[in-house]
Amino acid sequence: MPYDTSNIFARILRGELPATKVYEDDHVLAFNDVAPKAPVHVLVIPKQPFVSMDDFSRIAGPEEVGRFFKTVGEIARELGLAENGYRLILNIGGHGGQEVPHIHVHILGGRPIGPMVMVR
Ligand code: 5GP
Repeated sequence: MPYDTSNIFARILRGELPATKVYEDDHVLAFNDVAPKAPVHVLVIPKQPFVSMDDFSRIAGPEEVGRFFKTVGEIARELGLAENGYRLILNIGGHGGQEVPHIHVHILGGRPIGPMVMVR
């Protein structure tokens, strides 16, 4: 699937839509999820245009991928989540339940997050 430059997170990156930013550097932006599923629910995205973990892990180099995941861990620590723990969720494509086609990691914490996968 080609990258859709009109997706919501691309628009947030361009400053066309508002977001409550919690972290930003040259490579990464993190902001609060608009519909939080936990007391802390932050989305972390690379600034480069990747659709999902699939193209990110195929196209981006190990330095870029490594830097991204190191930054996710740093953000979680800065949010005060490391001591009690937290959950990362990375949805990929249709079966993964990905709604926004710009790769994003969910950081969820602030209370026990519950079963690993919702059963319904
Ligand atoms: P996905 O299902 O793609 O893994 O997660 C997409 C997430 O983006 C959802 O948790 C949803 O609440 C969040 N989201 C959708 N639109 C917006 C928006 O305009 N702003 C922010 N901050 N989050 C959004």
